[in-house]
Amino acid sequence: MDSEQFREAAKAAIDDIANYYDNISDHRVVADVEPGYLRPLLPASAPLEGESWDSIQADIQSKILPGITHWQAPGFMAFFPCSSSYPAAIAEMYSNTFNGAHFNWICSPAVTELETIVMDWLAQALGLPECFLSGGPTHGGGVLHGSASEAILTVMVAARDKYINEATAHLPEGEEKEEETWRLRSKLVALGSEGTHSSTKKAAQVLGVRFATVPISEKEGFTMTGKALATKLDELKAKGLEPFYLTATLGTTDVCAVDDFEGISRTLAPRAGKPGEIWVHVDAAYAGAALLLDENKPLAKPIANFHSFNLNPHKWMLTTFDCSAVWVRQRGHLINALSIKPHYLRNQYSDNELVTDYRDWQIPLGRRFRSLKLWFVLRAYGIRGLQAHIQSGITLGESLEAKLVTRPDLFTIFTKAHFGLVTFRVSGDSEDKINSRSQKLYDAINASGQFYLTSTVVKEHFAIRVCTGVATVREETIQKLFDLLVETTEGQLKLE
Ligand code: PLP
Repeated sequence: MDSEQFREAAKAAIDDIANYYDNISDHRVVADVEPGYLRPLLPASAPLEGESWDSIQADIQSKILPGITHWQAPGFMAFFPCSSSYPAAIAEMYSNTFNGAHFNWICSPAVTELETIVMDWLAQALGLPECFLSGGPTHGGGVLHGSASEAILTVMVAARDKYINEATAHLPEGEEKEEETWRLRSKLVALGSEGTHSSTKKAAQVLGVRFATVPISEKEGFTMTGKALATKLDELKAKGLEPFYLTATLGTTDVCAVDDFEGISRTLAPRAGKPGEIWVHVDAAYAGAALLLDENKPLAKPIANFHSFNLNPHKWMLTTFDCSAVWVRQRGHLINALSIKPHYLRNQYSDNELVTDYRDWQIPLGRRFRSLKLWFVLRAYGIRGLQAHIQSGITLGESLEAKLVTRPDLFTIFTKAHFGLVTFRVSGDSEDKINSRSQKLYDAINASGQFYLTSTVVKEHFAIRVCTGVATVREETIQKLFDLLVETTEGQLKLE
């Protein structure tokens, strides 16, 4: 394809994309295909000769679209959103144009420098404590990864090395230190709560350390409390184990609960800032975006006591996948754990420590130009535009909750609307009945193809989750969902 053909093809593709968004509500939300649907539609092997763009583009409509689940459709109320926007999409085109691996500053100075600036902008907009800014008092800073899972694994590596280095600092270099390092490594425990996203357990699995779960409190809104953490730590220490890392969550995946940051800080205070302290990471992958609103800013204050924080702008902040932001209080811990300097990566700027090389803040070497889309989004919407988007998701969740409570004969709120997520169950006079009715309703709504919801099981209660954060959801979508919930539940109860 030459540049003239590219101009023509790209313009046609942009028309196609804009039409897709204009008509997003026309689609069944979840793809209605059987596993293996695509293979019979495609040739058995790649074409020997290049094909015309027209024939390639035509296959998007006929072969790919049927297998797409429409994450931007208003009926998509499952999981958490994975939001997109035109400014972010345009940024991706430029990013692809400047295509490179961008691992060192010199590999594209703009890529590194824009990332540092945009991460500071976003930290300020969220009201994160100063220690997470690149120019802050503790030499912190932010970096963009592809996913929260990657961010959590990365900070866990830094936490492990910090813990071991501090615990063995009194020993001189040599065999004894090495033995103690490996002894300690075999005792390390990473912690999360019952509500922590599975990515923390997976990170522990990848790192080869133990994982322990702190129970959540139903009475305290399914949160991890400082007291429950203290009990778990005592238990682990009594077994001779070494807890070194904890994920606390701002917006759990099940019910959007916020762990008791103040209580966790109090529990960990005796060792804070001393060797053997536990690295606390705050996972705010989805709900962190709600810190853009002034009323939520107080939630960010106690994070000053913790070591790192992540938020996925690709979830609720209109920044096309993938874009996962992570900030650390002391970037030196990441760099100590992850910096490797083979000759072929060296250059005068890095050697003289004049620049940031983000390869030292992450696991892969190469990196995408992700800051461009975040920059475009922050500029095109402004903080006010993003606040309006977040507020809309929150208000729509509250609207659904308000409707559900008008029919206590049919529905019971499980957890109140919080950050655009409401969970509920079908009413009933026994736990078994509630669970089976709720499961039946959930299956029926998803089978309708008009909405896509997800469910959860918390402390053995089955609940239907409705997340209202997708940008195309409107009040009439909420009314339509509520009407369908009522009609379906009434129909089901009549058949009992
Ligand atoms: N943390 C939380 C609270 C989540 O809800 C999710 C996914 O929904 C993740 C982490 C994992 O995100 P990612 O897909 O970016 O790894």
